Amino acid sequence: PINEMKLVIPSRSANESFARVAVASFVAQLDPTIEELTEIKTAVSEAVTNCIVHAYREQIGSINIAVKLYEQGRILIRVRDTGCGIENIEKAMEPLFTTAGEERAGLGFAVMESFMDKLKVLSKPGKGTTITMEK
Ligand code: ATP
Ligand code: MG
Repeated sequence: PINEMKLVIPSRSANESFARVAVASFVAQLDPTIEELTEIKTAVSEAVTNCIVHAYREQIGSINIAVKLYEQGRILIRVRDTGCGIENIEKAMEPLFTTAGEERAGLGFAVMESFMDKLKVLSKPGKGTTITMEK
């Protein structure tokens, strides 16, 4: 990478907007369009919110965010938690699937997928989840 950064934050809801703005301001050095920046912010927001509400539920745990910038403006963003993990990744990624009942729309992964060029989800129940997104 030509530049990179790492961020470790507790899964407090106040840190959702902090993570979104921190990643956006780091990525800004590539001179993205406003639209690209909005898409990246939204994708990061969805990934971090999932750590806060699903991975750690009522507890507070660590969220690791890594951003790498490459030649030609390529961006890699990784969001990792050591929370509850996902039983069935394929199912979790289906639009409208949620384990949160009426509270949530089940659209987070669909948003990440549509706003980023690549989305990879690695997860182990009881161990945690790693989301890797590229643009
Ligand atoms: P929305 O994002 O629209 O508020 P949602 O969070 O339920 O709703 P997705 O973000 O698409 O929808 O996630 C789908 C499901 O995958 C979640 O309901 C949850 O069960 C599971 N999930 C997602 N991220 C994690 C995570 N980091 N740890 C554990 N489970 C997760
Ligand atoms: Mg979500």
